[in-house]
Amino acid sequence: MIESADSRLKNREVNPLIFWGIITVALAVSLVLILNAVGVSGGVYVLLLIPIVAYLAIMGFFLMYVSRLNKERSKLLSGRIEVEQGRAEEFARLNKELSDYAKQLFDKDFELTLANKRLQSLEQAKSKFISVTTHQLRTPLSAIKWTFHMLLKENLGKVTSEQKDFLQKGYDSTQRMIAIVNDLLNVDFIEADKSDYNFLPTKIVELMEGVIFEFKIPAESKKLDFKFIKPQNPLPDLKIDPVKISMVLENLIDNAIKYCPDKSKVTIYLKDDRINTADGSVEVVVADTGIGIASADRDKIFHRFFRAPNAIKIKTDGSGLGLYIAKDIIERHGGQMWFESKEGAGSTFHFTLPLARH
Ligand code: ADP
Repeated sequence: MIESADSRLKNREVNPLIFWGIITVALAVSLVLILNAVGVSGGVYVLLLIPIVAYLAIMGFFLMYVSRLNKERSKLLSGRIEVEQGRAEEFARLNKELSDYAKQLFDKDFELTLANKRLQSLEQAKSKFISVTTHQLRTPLSAIKWTFHMLLKENLGKVTSEQKDFLQKGYDSTQRMIAIVNDLLNVDFIEADKSDYNFLPTKIVELMEGVIFEFKIPAESKKLDFKFIKPQNPLPDLKIDPVKISMVLENLIDNAIKYCPDKSKVTIYLKDDRINTADGSVEVVVADTGIGIASADRDKIFHRFFRAPNAIKIKTDGSGLGLYIAKDIIERHGGQMWFESKEGAGSTFHFTLPLARH
């Protein structure tokens, strides 16, 4: 459109020099005729004619110059118009592409929402399945465990030492199975955010001594150097969930004993170095001189179901859930959990518990 209007304009254009030439000649002829008619003498005649013709010629050149400037301006303008037109076309193309992408995105968003809903219902089904099966398993497993226990204690009659060995293996396996079932239940609680905490003022030293006492026999049977080192001064009561903190401690001590060879060293510390700091806390440390953790596995230790290859080699069963649950419990108490370890040289797990709950 713009291009054709421009060319039409160009076609109608008259060369200003020709136009002004015609006018100059017409005016000069008229002037000569007038001067001749008036009867002006030759000298005056030339004197009048020269400046007029010069004026007309200068004006002609000036007009030509202005017209050339105009031409250049319109050429520039039409160039700009062309560029803008190209830009407008590019913009329209991009706009179309964008609206196509927007449509695709909308479709994908819809698909993702559907997939998400499907995943959520699968997650709920999985959670329900774990919850139902683990609840169902717990009761018969406890019955089996107590049957083994009664047989071992000879409540149901005398057993030979060979029978006792087998019964002990059965008892230990059932105990491990109960622990795995409990871990699965706990993970289900964490992930469904169903864990309920009962924060009570608790004497941490007494709680720790109680848990450590439970591990005396397993520690002795591995001939471990098993120690608890506590602070000299009494500590204030901590507002914690004693059942959950016992679970954390049990998991750390159980791992320390499990993942070290006979005659190793397992030391449990309760430290009060930080009780007088701004955000006062106590620190619990469980250190062992066992198999340790390879640096390649460091980042995965607190992931659910993760078990390091060196741990699987010496203990084939285990859920890989204990540390995942323990870290969650500590963080819900406002504390932190971390570890240091070197493969073959032992591991040290730490956690803190704040003195005051905010
Ligand atoms: P589980 O003991 O059932 O495998 P955990 O969640 O308690 O599960 O531990 C996860 C993994 O962390 C273990 O399988 C083991 O590889 C590693 N681990 C934990 N504690 C220790 C430890 N004291 N020494 C060496 N490895 C450990």
